[in-house]
Amino acid sequence: MAWTGSPRLDFRSDTRTVPDARMREAMAEAEVGDDVYGDDPTVALLEERVAELLGTEAALLMPTGTMANLIAPLAASGPPESPAPRVIAGADTHMAFLEADGLRRFGGVELIPVAQRPDGLPDLDALAALLATGADSPTVVCVENTSMMHSGNALDAQATGSVAALAHRYGAHVHLDGARLANAAVALGVPPAELAGPADSVAFSVSKGLGAPAGGLLCGSREYVARARELRGWLGGSLHQAGVVAAPALLALGRLPDLAADHETAAALASGVASVPGVELMRPPRPTNMVMARLAGLAPDECAARLAGHGIGVLPLPNGYVRFVTHRAHDMIGVREAVRALATVAAGVPKARPATDGDHPDGNSPRHQRRKHDNEATSART
Ligand SMILES: *Cc1c(COP(=O)(O)O)cnc(C)c1O
Repeated sequence: MAWTGSPRLDFRSDTRTVPDARMREAMAEAEVGDDVYGDDPTVALLEERVAELLGTEAALLMPTGTMANLIAPLAASGPPESPAPRVIAGADTHMAFLEADGLRRFGGVELIPVAQRPDGLPDLDALAALLATGADSPTVVCVENTSMMHSGNALDAQATGSVAALAHRYGAHVHLDGARLANAAVALGVPPAELAGPADSVAFSVSKGLGAPAGGLLCGSREYVARARELRGWLGGSLHQAGVVAAPALLALGRLPDLAADHETAAALASGVASVPGVELMRPPRPTNMVMARLAGLAPDECAARLAGHGIGVLPLPNGYVRFVTHRAHDMIGVREAVRALATVAAGVPKARPATDGDHPDGNSPRHQRRKHDNEATSART
């Protein structure tokens, strides 16, 4: 992508949310200890609150969701010195796209991609076949909710439960990458704990739409979290006065209901985008805060570059779409402006030649997608 500056209206990701005055105040006033010694009261409070929210025995603050997902399978395989398990994750997930190399290099973990249904859930038949082939190696099966490449679709507890039931039949551990589980819970109108219920561990992020500056929490049983704590130390992920990170995260937890407004903004944007001639909209069954659109005859990075020329930031994706993510900084004025910009860009595209196979998610093997992806601006962004 040619353009790299900051757009006037930034729809690239909900990680672009910045801490507001109240969060900065909370950081300044945070009571801290030394979390390596286990006595930072603000961290302890955050971990307790998140465990409660997700209905797990314990939770552990990590600097990032990425680190939570790296440690998750390692803590699942028993004592920290146990051999690394294999990890099965949807081919279109954050873990498969952006974390597989780190898992291999730093965790000795091989990620095996599995096909996903249109709603983002791993395909049960494909998963069963993989589970049957490696039945004697320790296995971790991952589900991502919301589903990043499926326009942020929210999966209900029954969907995740069907994967968990299958995985558990083979003795596998089920990890839920719930970076946006709060969005899923709000969209479905259920407590996050209900969606987390079928999983053995959950990675939960406070720095997406919830707006904290950083932080992911890895949640599970007390024993599991104790193992994760040791691994986090080995990895260099334990922060001494982490209370300054936990304090804005505590405020973020109080903002879960606000995500409904982001979803309304996304719905308005989706209906505006759908009305633009020549634009194809991805329509997830349970939308949240994402809108994915493609223009026939215009590659996603070119589309993003042209929108950037109108001050609109979007993320080009390897599945042929550009992604808009709505968050607390957006309003209806911004939505109308984004739709107008897209209409202008669409009007400038010569009449549609049909999309080539290479533009389409179903036309690509995961490996091919990943290679393409590595060359694009998305590679370091979420
Ligand atoms: C953002 C994200 C992550 C990683 O979280 P970071 O805190 O950015 O490391 C993992 N999984 C999904 C689905 C995400 O969206």
